[in-house]
Amino acid sequence: YWKKSFSQLMKLFEVAVKCRPLTARERGRDIVRVHNDKEVLVLDPDLSKDYLDRIQNRTKERKYTFDYAFGPNSSNLDVYKRSVRSTIAGVVQGLNATIFAYGSTGSGKTYTMVGTRDDPGLMVLSLNTIFDLIEKDNSSDNFQVTCSYLEVYNEVIYDLLEKSSGHLELREDPEQGITVAGLRSIKVNSADRILELLNLGNSRRKTESTEVNETSSRSHAVLEISVTRKQQKEYPNQVIRGKLALVDLAGSERASETNSGGQKLRDGANINRSLLALANCINALGKQQKKGLAYVPKLTRILKDGLSGNSQTIMIATISPADNQYHHTVNTLKYADRAK
Ligand code: ADP
Ligand code: MG
Repeated sequence: YWKKSFSQLMKLFEVAVKCRPLTARERGRDIVRVHNDKEVLVLDPDLSKDYLDRIQNRTKERKYTFDYAFGPNSSNLDVYKRSVRSTIAGVVQGLNATIFAYGSTGSGKTYTMVGTRDDPGLMVLSLNTIFDLIEKDNSSDNFQVTCSYLEVYNEVIYDLLEKSSGHLELREDPEQGITVAGLRSIKVNSADRILELLNLGNSRRKTESTEVNETSSRSHAVLEISVTRKQQKEYPNQVIRGKLALVDLAGSERASETNSGGQKLRDGANINRSLLALANCINALGKQQKKGLAYVPKLTRILKDGLSGNSQTIMIATISPADNQYHHTVNTLKYADRAK
């Protein structure tokens, strides 16, 4: 009952847009002009009247509205506080949640999810909150937090916590549902070492190891944080488990072509709205060749299980302000707009 009323208070699927700053290299290039009237993006978190007046006569301008909008000066912490943090409390109470970054290669997906030491990303910040909440919890319950970090590349699953991971297979377990056989799951006691671990894991991604973007941008990475809570007093040893999946999706640059086929998933019996939105993004990133078959991409199958009826999903659409990225930016905004 509690779970039900809790989820009714929240929107189950939200979309945030984050525009990164220009990189130093981009600032040095002529083709990028963003500080004069050639700027390709205006972000207005408050939708001020001033802004609406200003675009009134600019017929070429398109307006998109999202649950949250973050400009180049927003830190990962800003994004986290406003759009993600409230969801994390639910995970400690046994709810499931998924947060995924969608955008073209170079738009800031990995930066947003993993971040740096000075600007830790959503993966690190979420874990921080989980440990904070556990520390503050005044029940006598026992908590255990575990993490796994995997990559899906060309429909093959790899373990990013292993030095040289073989191909991992999905297994249908009657009790646990779909699991990845042999995937390493580590116990964590604080968020301290997690950034190191994520960076190490990322260096193993098919992404970072190749110079060529064509192949490098097709890797998905999933950090799954599982919080197990064992009651001590009222219902001894009753176990409640909440799962949080943080997903750094493959580059969206090919999504628009794939998508023109119009094979968008429709609402089905056992698929909720959050998963539908996510599955549509994953589908759009997939290969056209699977068309026609009722093929469900591995990533969708992995994530589907963690998304029960009450789960919450947040999409972070990442974009670049540079005018040479204009087409990617428009595609991402359109896609994120339709995903709602
Ligand atoms: P993606 O994972 O989408 O391919 P990255 O996260 O690797 O993109 O970002 C591309 C580049 O932009 C990197 O050099 C990254 O450090 C930089 N970048 C992205 N977002 C920010 C930000 N908010 N602040 C500073 N630099 C950023
Ligand atoms: Mg990346």
